[in-house]
Amino acid sequence: MAEFDSNLQKLIDKPTETLDGRKIILKANLDIVEELDYIQKNGAEGIGLVRTEQIFDLEEEFPDEETQYKVYSDLAEKLYPFYVVIRVFDIGGDKVFPVDVQEPNPFLGWRGIRFLLDNKDLLKTQIRALLRASVHKNIKFMLPMISSIQEIRKTKEILEECKTELREKNIEFDNNINLGIMIEVPSAAFMAEEFAQEVDFLSIGTNDLIQYLLAVDRGNEIVSSLYQEFHPAVVRSLYKIIHSGKKGDAKVSICGEMAADILATPLLVGMGLDSLSVSAATIPHIKKIIRSINYEDVKLLAEECLNFKTEKEIRDKLQVYFSEHITDEVENIIS
Ligand code: PEP
Ligand code: MG
Repeated sequence: MAEFDSNLQKLIDKPTETLDGRKIILKANLDIVEELDYIQKNGAEGIGLVRTEQIFDLEEEFPDEETQYKVYSDLAEKLYPFYVVIRVFDIGGDKVFPVDVQEPNPFLGWRGIRFLLDNKDLLKTQIRALLRASVHKNIKFMLPMISSIQEIRKTKEILEECKTELREKNIEFDNNINLGIMIEVPSAAFMAEEFAQEVDFLSIGTNDLIQYLLAVDRGNEIVSSLYQEFHPAVVRSLYKIIHSGKKGDAKVSICGEMAADILATPLLVGMGLDSLSVSAATIPHIKKIIRSINYEDVKLLAEECLNFKTEKEIRDKLQVYFSEHITDEVENIIS
């Protein structure tokens, strides 16, 4: 295992591309700022998801604009010239809430963008901090839990308000800052093409998408066997999102845990994703898989997976692909 790990380390400066030359951008998810060093050491080409609700201690109160600005601009400076995708607070659901709210179904309640649009000052504070930190033009920002086009449009209006306020004070920012949305609610998956036309990029959040698509609480042990990333409905949804997003002229990436599952890598690349954001520890492993596959092969593999009717058939197919195409060395780490 030590030898295997040191072989992985050697990959850090090698390009992330398939055997037939398809380039994939491999980024990292960041939950605590201290991870940044490790992320960079593992060769990430940027950060595909900063969970801002995790990096600040929200238990007591929301951080003010200055506190947020310092953290975001420090990340942007250290990551330059790579991009940092900063997601605005995704609070509610199972996440920390500095406000006392009792909801019968928090996962279906006041979560993510819904909470932020109802607390406009809070959202504006965060957007202003992001804009001010965007002077190096390598910050993108992202909205969680989008389920309707109105939520995107309302946020865009608020973004314009924030820009006007900064302009009036002669504060510099990236006027073309990219805006993206998480696709993690089934309505967003169905509307991906129209949503894509409103924004610059989509990022697929499989952690929530699977939960909402299959009606399985992502944290409930009792039903954990029903939480299936290779459920045919999940695989077909991913395919639809990727292709609708591209039709709508937006870049499409994935930042849910599924992207860090090496069994899923050939499928995700085969479905046309060219950007994955994963936990830092898995970057070398995912890179190793990508460098062992042929894009033309995995496109066919993905097509076959789209026709299966059960999770088992898809999983079996991917296992067989792995044993036939990926080195024994890598197979050892998934068995
Ligand atoms: C997701 O839902 O896949 C995601 C990346 O967001 P989070 O895990 O923070 O809900
Ligand atoms: Mg989510």
